[in-house]
Amino acid sequence: VPVQPVRPRIVASKCLGFAACRWNGVLIEDALVERLRPHVDFHPVCPEMEIGLGCPRQPIRVVRHEKTVHLQQPATGRDVTPEMTAFVGRFLGELTEVDGFLLKYKSPSCGIANVKIYSDLQAKSPCGRGAGVFGSAVRTRFPDLPVEDEGRLLNFSIREHYLTRIFTLARFRRCRESCAMRDLVDFHATHKYLLMACNQTALRRLGRLVANPDRLPPHEVLCAYRQELGRALARPPRFTSAINVLMHAFGHVSDRLTPKEKTFFLDSLEEYRAARIPLSVPVGLLQSWVIRFADAYLGSQVFFEPYPRALVAITDSGKGRDLT
Ligand code: SF4
Repeated sequence: VPVQPVRPRIVASKCLGFAACRWNGVLIEDALVERLRPHVDFHPVCPEMEIGLGCPRQPIRVVRHEKTVHLQQPATGRDVTPEMTAFVGRFLGELTEVDGFLLKYKSPSCGIANVKIYSDLQAKSPCGRGAGVFGSAVRTRFPDLPVEDEGRLLNFSIREHYLTRIFTLARFRRCRESCAMRDLVDFHATHKYLLMACNQTALRRLGRLVANPDRLPPHEVLCAYRQELGRALARPPRFTSAINVLMHAFGHVSDRLTPKEKTFFLDSLEEYRAARIPLSVPVGLLQSWVIRFADAYLGSQVFFEPYPRALVAITDSGKGRDLT
């Protein structure tokens, strides 16, 4: 059964292409946000506008006094921590059923890492780096959701993992809406190779949940499955796990291949192992055989196309495939 397209729901920093709301009145054009627009339902938010700072505005900074973190505006001396804390609690408390976050890199509000932290209001240089107030609260409140910034998503591996997670969680959300065990069985079957690549132990635990030996009601099984799924997808697949999955898939078609085709495929796996070619090369070879042999089982595996092809881009920050 072909997997039907879904639209992930993503909370995004509003200045990333949705409104000119940065402190200096600028809108940031982000290529990934533009590519995602036709495929994703964005929920843009600007925490600094929400607390009434206006635009343009004097910039704010994260100031750490001993163990407490404040958001302060050096030009006015204003401390906006209470307003921001109240907004964050209200906004995140009302959020339901989102599949991930795409936040602004390095912002004192939205940043998730690498945000400059100062020891006092007038310090010229930062005393450390960390998360912004909104970004930090998002991570604490939604530990198993994909939360990234547009800077990290320049890395090919991080972007691939993020896109895989948001589309997988969106597919599961649809499955959960139907609250039918039949749909969960289909979800598990079509995601088997993807989960095998991410986390073999979690795949076994998820399989036991789907088998449902205790005859639990569907909503309980779906709830437990969602928790386990979040953990299963948390880490990107190691390249050795991807090779293991490709060998499994190869086993389905190898008896229909010529000796030269088999050798060519196995050689390409070794080249992938040595980081000389991308994963898409052996995956593309397998996909061509799935089409040629009309292999319904392999054709249903989302591992081969976990998110829309239109979102694939070979651009990379150049920091390597194992960066997470
Ligand atoms: S980084 Fe966040 S708070 Fe700052 S302008 Fe963008 S959306 Fe608003």
